Amino acid sequence: MPNGTILRSYSPATGEVVGSLPLTEIPAIPGMLAKAGAAQRVWEKRALAERLRFLPRLRAELLTRKEEIARLVSWETGKPYPESLTVELIPALDMIRFLEKEAERILRPERLGLGWFVHKRSILEHIPLGVVGIISPWNYPFGIPFTQVTAALIAGNAVLLKPSELTPLSGRRLVEVFGEAGLEPDLLQLITGEGSRGEALVSAGPDKIVFTGSVATGKKVMGAAAQALIPLTLELGGKDPMLVLKDANLERAANGAVWGAFTNAGQVCASVERCYVERAVAEEFIAKVVAKAGRLRQGSPLERAPGGEVVAKPVDIGPLINETQRRKVQAQVEEALALGGKVLCGGEPRSDLPGYFYPPTVLVNVPPGAAVWREETFGPLLPIAVVDSAEEGIALANDSRYALSASVWSQNRRQARAVAGRLEAGTVWINDLIYTYGLAATPWGGYKESGLGRTHAAEGLRDFTQTRHRNEGYYPLKSELQWYPYTEKKRIWLERLIRFLYGR
Ligand code: NAD
Repeated sequence: MPNGTILRSYSPATGEVVGSLPLTEIPAIPGMLAKAGAAQRVWEKRALAERLRFLPRLRAELLTRKEEIARLVSWETGKPYPESLTVELIPALDMIRFLEKEAERILRPERLGLGWFVHKRSILEHIPLGVVGIISPWNYPFGIPFTQVTAALIAGNAVLLKPSELTPLSGRRLVEVFGEAGLEPDLLQLITGEGSRGEALVSAGPDKIVFTGSVATGKKVMGAAAQALIPLTLELGGKDPMLVLKDANLERAANGAVWGAFTNAGQVCASVERCYVERAVAEEFIAKVVAKAGRLRQGSPLERAPGGEVVAKPVDIGPLINETQRRKVQAQVEEALALGGKVLCGGEPRSDLPGYFYPPTVLVNVPPGAAVWREETFGPLLPIAVVDSAEEGIALANDSRYALSASVWSQNRRQARAVAGRLEAGTVWINDLIYTYGLAATPWGGYKESGLGRTHAAEGLRDFTQTRHRNEGYYPLKSELQWYPYTEKKRIWLERLIRFLYGR
C-alpha cells in the first residue's frame, strides 16, 4: 500500500512487510513513454532473428533464478510454492520456448492470392505497434505479465508495465530479470502504484493497452482508451462452469473440481465458480468433493527455518489477498445460506490463522438468483447444483454475463464434444481445466464480459502487431480497367469480365 512516495508490499499469509519500492510519480509517466518510444524505434529496426537472440539469455536467467522468484511470489501472494512454479514460472518459460520455435513463422510476411490480378502481388507484414502499456492483476503477478511482456517485445514493441499495487515486488523482479538478461532498460520500464498510475498510463497515449483485471476496471480502461482510439486487449473476470455428466469418471471429476475451485484459494480468473452435476451421479460426486476438500492443508506457503532461511511448507491452499476479498467471499456465503443454501464444508473465515485465510467451502441447494451463481467470487467457494439432464446443465452454464472458460466431464467422446460445442466460453476443456493457460501454444481470452482479444499462441503474438498490406505491381497493363478514360469499349469489357469472373 502507498505511504508517501513508498509502496509497501505485505504478505497476506502473515501480515509481514515483504518489501517496499518507490512509487512512480504520475507526471513522470509521459516522459517514460517518450523514452520507451525512442528505444522502440531502434529495437524495431533489428531483424526478428536478432531480437529472438535475446530469448535464450532470458530463459537462462529465469532458470537460474526460478526458486528465488517462486519464493518471492509465494511471499507476496500467499500461494503454495508449487503453484508459483507451475503457474508463474512454467508459463513464462513455455512462452519463451514457444516464441523461440514459432515467432518467425507467425510474424513472417504472408503472400495473398489476388485472383485475376496475376500481374500484381500483395504481401501482409506484421509490424510492431510501438509502445504497449501492460496493466496486470495480483493473482498471477509474475506469470501473466511475463508472457505478455515477452510476446510484446519479440513482436518489436517497447513496454511500460504497471503491476498491481498489491504485488509490486513480483512486477519489479520481472523487469529486473529482463535487465539481467541484457535488455536495454528503456524498452521495458516499471510503473508502480495503484489504479491512478494505470489511468495515467492509458491517458499518456501508448500504442496499445493490454489490461488484465476485473470487468469494472476493464470497462473504465476501455472508456479511457476510446478517447484516443487506443487498441486494447482485455483479459477480464469469469464465473466459469464445470459440467459433470453421468458417464464422467467421478474420481477424476472430483479431483478436478477440488483443484479447479481451490487452487490459488480460488483467486483464478478461470476457477471453477459453478458446478452442475447430473442427478444420477450427484450424491457420489458431491461426497467425493467434500471429502477431498476437507483434506486440503491450509496455511502460509513459506516459513523461516531456524537459520533464517525461507523454506517452502507443504500446504495446498493459501490465504486470500486481503480482508476486502475475504469479506466479499463471506458475504456471498451468508447470502447463500439466507436463501436456503447449505454449507457442506468450510463456510467461516479461519480465525485460528493470521492473515486472510478462508477455508475451502462447498455449497449446495443455493437458489439460482444468489450472487454465488452470478458474481465472480474470486475465493474458495464451490457451489454445486444438481441438474436433470446435460441440456439443463448447458442452459445454466451459458446463463452468465461471463464467458472465459468452461469444462465438461464425460467419458463418452461424442457427447462430450457435442456439449463442449454448445458452451459459450473462450476455452472449453473436456475432462480437464485451467492448465492450458500455461501452454503458450494455446490462445487465451474470453467472450461476453470476460474480455476482448487473445493473448498467447499465434493470435496473441499477432495482437502485438498491426498489419501493413503492401501491394506491388511491376507489369503495367496498357490501360488499367478501372482507370480513366471510361471509354465505351471499356464498359463492354467490364460487363463481360464481371460475368466471366463471378457468373459461375
Ligand atoms: P483490478 O481491476 O482491481 O486491477 C487490475 C489492475 O488495474 C491493477 O494493476 C490496478 O492497479 C489497475 N487499475 C485499477 N484502476 C485502474 C484504472 N482506472 N485505470 C487503469 N488501471 C487501473 O483487478 P485485480 O483485483 O487486480 O485482479 C482480479 C481480477 O482480474 C479478477 O476479476 C480476475 O478474474 C481478473 N483476471 C483475469 C484474467 C484473465 O486472463 N482473463 C487473469 C487474471 C485475473
